[in-house]
Amino acid sequence: MSSTAVIERPARWSKGERRRRAYMRRFSRMTALQKLRILRDLNPYRDYRGFIYAFTQRVLRNGVYVGTRVKFGLTNNIDRRRREYRGCGGMCWISYWASDCVKLTEAIIHARLRARGIHIKKVVCGCGTHHREFFWKSGIGGTVDIQLEVEQTLIDTAQPIDRTDF
Ligand SMILES: [Zn+2]
Repeated sequence: MSSTAVIERPARWSKGERRRRAYMRRFSRMTALQKLRILRDLNPYRDYRGFIYAFTQRVLRNGVYVGTRVKFGLTNNIDRRRREYRGCGGMCWISYWASDCVKLTEAIIHARLRARGIHIKKVVCGCGTHHREFFWKSGIGGTVDIQLEVEQTLIDTAQPIDRTDF
């Protein structure tokens, strides 16, 4: 009785298949960092070059201070972003970083902070609107810890650290 459940190697791979297999052999010999760079440059998010920024803001409820929150955001224009938050109050801009893939970088930062359970669902800002994607500073730490959240993510995605402090 013969089994048919055997995948036989064809006598000859197609040209495309040979090329694909040669690439996979090369890929498997790369370091983790080289692989990461290739995956990043495949650009699944239609990502772009820009800046990641961080600021803190004091949170008041009925005029009483209840804590400080941190924003990690992305923009391609820091000055414009600062003007957009001009009417908010209680803010302290910390730093911004150049990034080749701001959407990926921001998504990883937010995912890590959400995993720690420090995401803030809703706080009405001093400007009267509700901004998204804020996290409690008490769950992160001081200024250096806030900067490290960004810089660890830059390192993990094989990006250089190019930081400007406000
Ligand atoms: Zn505001």
